[in-house]
Order: sequence, then C-alpha cells, then structure tokens
Amino acid sequence: MPFREVVGHRAVISRIAQAVEGDSLPPSVLLTGPGGVGKRLLAGAIAQTLNCGAPRRDASGLAVDACGSCSACRRIAGGVYPDVLVLAPGEGGSITVDQVRVAIEQVGYRPFEGRRRVIVVDDADLLVPAAQNALLKTLEEPPPRSQFVLVTARPDMLLDTVRSRCPRLRIGHLRRHPAAAA
Ligand SMILES: [Zn+2]
Repeated sequence: MPFREVVGHRAVISRIAQAVEGDSLPPSVLLTGPGGVGKRLLAGAIAQTLNCGAPRRDASGLAVDACGSCSACRRIAGGVYPDVLVLAPGEGGSITVDQVRVAIEQVGYRPFEGRRRVIVVDDADLLVPAAQNALLKTLEEPPPRSQFVLVTARPDMLLDTVRSRCPRLRIGHLRRHPAAAA
C-alpha cells in the first residue's frame, strides 16, 4: 500500500516521504505508536517506495510515493518480493535468534533486484533479548543498501542499546474526522 493510501498520519508520512526522496532516511528506524493505527502498513509503504519501479511525486504533496501497481509494488504487497523480508513472531510467540541471523545474512548480500533490501521487524518488542543483541551490530553499521524498520507498540520492551541505535518515528492515534462522527 503506497503512502497515499495509509489512513491518517499525514505529517509523519510527509516527513518520511521527504527523507526517502532525499535518501536521508536513517538506515535503522523504530516505528512506534498504539496498536491498530497502521504502523505495519506504513512499513510496507516505505518498502514499496524504496523499491518501486516507477516512484513519483504524489498529487497530495508527498515528495515521493510508490506507484502501487508495478511488479515490485505488487509483490511487496503480496509478501513475495525477494528484497523485502518481514520478521514476525512464530508459533512460540517470539522472534528468535535464528530468525535474526537469517535476516542478517541476507542483508550482507546485494539486493537481488531492488534498490534496497528492507527488513521489517514486526512486533519488534517480541524479539528475545539474545535476538536483540544479535541485531545490535547490524543496526549500528547496516550494510549498504539495507533498510531496517522495527515496528512496535511497546518500544519500552526493547533493550536501551537497540532503541538508541534506531531513530524513532512516532505514529499517533488516528483522529476521527468531525464529519465522520456524524
Ligand atoms: Zn511501484
């Protein structure tokens, strides 16, 4: 889903788009905010915009946005794009060291076909401490052309060392439009 289709959060989305356009998005970011406000969708929009085959300035004023319809955008949305990896808790309810090691190994290689290899860590607070420690060095010195997006509603559950390496992008509650309340 491109930035323009994510509901709400226009100010922060505008800043993120600006950073992507200017190639100044920090290589490891922590996307925080309450549950159910679209953090995961926003992470997907970042992944799409970084790898879209036809990124463009959006009519709504965004510096750049994904087209949403090219092969890369469609495969990223479908979870089958080789340069976008999503880490999420498995059956055990946590994200393990092994999952992190696989991700770290992958970012060591050039992207297969995209411009950036994007690692989205969903529910990053469920990284076991050993997995967070395994990530530290990579978050500190991410390989060229890699982008880490840690997503969590509970950033305080992360180790200080992880938090300090990832500039935070805060997403607030969705404000209901007055007209929509009627
Ligand atoms: Zn596209």
